[in-house]
Amino acid sequence: MNSLQSFAEGKLAALETRSLRRTLAPTHRVDGLWVERDGQRLLSFSCNDYLGLSHHPAVKAAAAQAIETYGVGSGASRLVTGDHPLMSALEGRLADLKGTEAACVFGSGYLTNAGVIPTLVGPGDLLIADELAHACIWAGGRLSGAETLRLRHNDVGHLEEILTTRRGEVRRVLVATDGVFSMDGDLAPLDRLSAVCRAHDAWLLSDDAHGIGVLADGRGSAHVFPGADIPLQMGTLSKAVGGYGGYLCASRAVIDLIKTRARTFVYSTGLPPASAAAAIAALDIIARDPALCALPLTKAQAFTSALGLPAAQSAIVPVVIGEADAALAASRRLREQGFLVVPIRPPTVPEGTARLRIAFSAAHPDDQVARLAAAVRPLLAA
Ligand SMILES: *Cc1c(COP(=O)(O)O)cnc(C)c1O
Repeated sequence: MNSLQSFAEGKLAALETRSLRRTLAPTHRVDGLWVERDGQRLLSFSCNDYLGLSHHPAVKAAAAQAIETYGVGSGASRLVTGDHPLMSALEGRLADLKGTEAACVFGSGYLTNAGVIPTLVGPGDLLIADELAHACIWAGGRLSGAETLRLRHNDVGHLEEILTTRRGEVRRVLVATDGVFSMDGDLAPLDRLSAVCRAHDAWLLSDDAHGIGVLADGRGSAHVFPGADIPLQMGTLSKAVGGYGGYLCASRAVIDLIKTRARTFVYSTGLPPASAAAAIAALDIIARDPALCALPLTKAQAFTSALGLPAAQSAIVPVVIGEADAALAASRRLREQGFLVVPIRPPTVPEGTARLRIAFSAAHPDDQVARLAAAVRPLLAA
């Protein structure tokens, strides 16, 4: 056997023995809430489509119309010919929602952090990231060549300590955190982080992938904390916004620099027109329907309250099981009762904290939320 083949097979076998091999399961998301897998119809509590906008008629119509007008692809990088007219409209909408001067849309959220972070810091600089921050923040850190330190989760005192001892030795400091932690559902203390960053001339980047459309009337996690000053607000159009794409909202000068230098922007094809049109239509709905935006958190809190868990702070509720095989078994038991709750295993979460990650949607009927709570209760006791 050749060495490539034996490398791949050996690696897969090793992962298999630790219950860490991953496989794809074709899933038909029938309406954004009910899904079909292996001929079984299941109620999904694993989609990040918090407002059901991936299937909203107005959002679908906007995408279909954009395909008719502009075609399916953008044709090139935005700096070449891919900057179709919907892009600046979308960027204007995002900047308004977040309260910044300007915005830059990328191909995805992952590409956003992988491009923004290395544009702002490099060798001789320091990146400080929360230990539970999303993988794309760490990817951006590696690409940047900046020294990277792990901040103890949400520990503002630890940040103060690092900045007090290290700030003088380095040129620039970027502090990066999720606004809503993707696998834990808790919020970063953005007000206190931003005060410490300001005092030490460090730049704060918050990743609002799970905040936009859900928190603070849909404006996102930064707006939960009055007085928080966050110069770099990034996120994704693929969760509550229902489609695909990523963005950074910041000052005009920062955005102009990003559009000139961020490699995942310069060297990657622009977002397809339909994705931009869908996002604009979804942002319209978010802007005019704060009651819809409030529903995922209301449903999540009904669930945590039914089980006596700490009150949900976002649409995401983790039920930590422990070992990967036990989390797989717990997910199977829920599936037998008609629920799709995908288990999350290392390395997405730390070793020994494999979990069910339950994501609530505005469209989940209350009686189904109660039924899920009843199905999860015996798993908590185990
Ligand atoms: C999903 C997610 C991303 C990546 O966004 P994509 O648009 O899916 O690439 C980034 N950060 C966080 C916290 C996420 O949960």
